[in-house]
Amino acid sequence: MTNSAVVVIGGGIIGLSCAWRLAQRGCTVTLLDAAAESREASWAAAGMLAPHHEADAPGPLWALGQASLERWPRFVADLVADPMLVDFRQVGGWLPWLENEDTAAVVAKEAFLTAAGVAVRRLGRREIGAAEPAFCNACAGALLLPAGQVIPRLVVSALQAACRRLGVHLRFGARVARVDGPTVHLGDGAAVSGEVVVLASGAWTPELARHSGVDLSGEPVKGQMLRLGADDRLLRHFVHSNHGYLVPRLGCGIVVGSTMVSDGFDRRDDPQAIARLAASAGVLVPALARAPIIETWTGLRPRLHGGLPVIDRVSPTLVLATGHFRNGILLTPITAEAVAAIVMQDELPKELADFTLAAFQVRH
Ligand SMILES: Cc1cc2nc3c(=O)[nH]c(=O)nc-3n(C[C@H](O)[C@H](O)[C@H](O)COP(=O)(O)OP(=O)(O)OC[C@H]3O[C@@H](n4cnc5c(N)ncnc54)[C@H](O)[C@@H]3O)c2cc1C
Repeated sequence: MTNSAVVVIGGGIIGLSCAWRLAQRGCTVTLLDAAAESREASWAAAGMLAPHHEADAPGPLWALGQASLERWPRFVADLVADPMLVDFRQVGGWLPWLENEDTAAVVAKEAFLTAAGVAVRRLGRREIGAAEPAFCNACAGALLLPAGQVIPRLVVSALQAACRRLGVHLRFGARVARVDGPTVHLGDGAAVSGEVVVLASGAWTPELARHSGVDLSGEPVKGQMLRLGADDRLLRHFVHSNHGYLVPRLGCGIVVGSTMVSDGFDRRDDPQAIARLAASAGVLVPALARAPIIETWTGLRPRLHGGLPVIDRVSPTLVLATGHFRNGILLTPITAEAVAAIVMQDELPKELADFTLAAFQVRH
């Protein structure tokens, strides 16, 4: 199929990347977003591309995450002239532990990843001191797991520019009320029609889906974040541990996260959580104990019940690309590729089989 007219709902990283890949395939694309600019979960994210850190055992999400991580270099090369424009790095990420901490989960993770052929590096106390000198003396060891990282805000900006270059009609400030077949009804009474509609409205998708006759349930999960004014070169790799995560951003300090709170759509900062996160950053990396907090923010992770995304054509005119929860940045390349394949009626990447609406309904 060529030159389909597609309406994408949602201007976060998922909607924008789908719009971009569809426009590259020759579709005429209109993207609608309720907000004046893209500042929801994709803007809030830390930017770790970390399938192995997030998995405790083999499973469909781990497989999807690995497949998407493999696609990140191509995705970045297609998007920007220089990977550093989005601070894309493929240097792996730490999973450290402190002395007296229970390492059973780490040992189990190391075993399953090694058995699966993933290149896991284990460093003891002395080696870690040389490899990441900023770590505290109580750091007893760490795994270095294959992973990447980006600055999601820069990827979102690059995707908007790439969409504009390909003639995607980006309409921010256009709130969608419901979808009726190929027609998208806006809150102001206007309507936009296409041959296919892609619903990628993050944490707001379940409500919009219900108004459009699709049974999809989920809830936002709030994450509190902060940024410390420290030299990002203090850390050579991001850190993902039981005490939270630390992500160095080129020339922009170190991002610290995060909380997981189910409290509806409340996006207010939580001063106690900010204090806790800042304190735990200083425990693992003592130099950060003195670093000033230069920015705080929250974001709403789009979680569907069961915790897995749905990427599927659910009617002849409606495609869902939603529920990416903690891994939407990681899963962007494969989601955009899959949505383009669905619309163009190409073969889907094999890892997509577990992310249909039917599979969601069984899990739920
Ligand atoms: C604190 C935090 C840290 C994270 N860290 C990571 C990480 O390190 N790595 C990783 O892979 N993932 C991470 N994530 C998860 C990731 O950010 C999300 O999974 C991903 O951004 C979801 O993208 P999205 O485009 O679906 O949603 P969003 O970015 O939320 O975009 C949805 C868009 O839909 C629009 N919209 C909503 N309702 C309507 C409507 N009715 N009409 C029109 N438009 C509408 C919104 O305005 C919004 O722009 C993190 C998330 C958070 C909150």
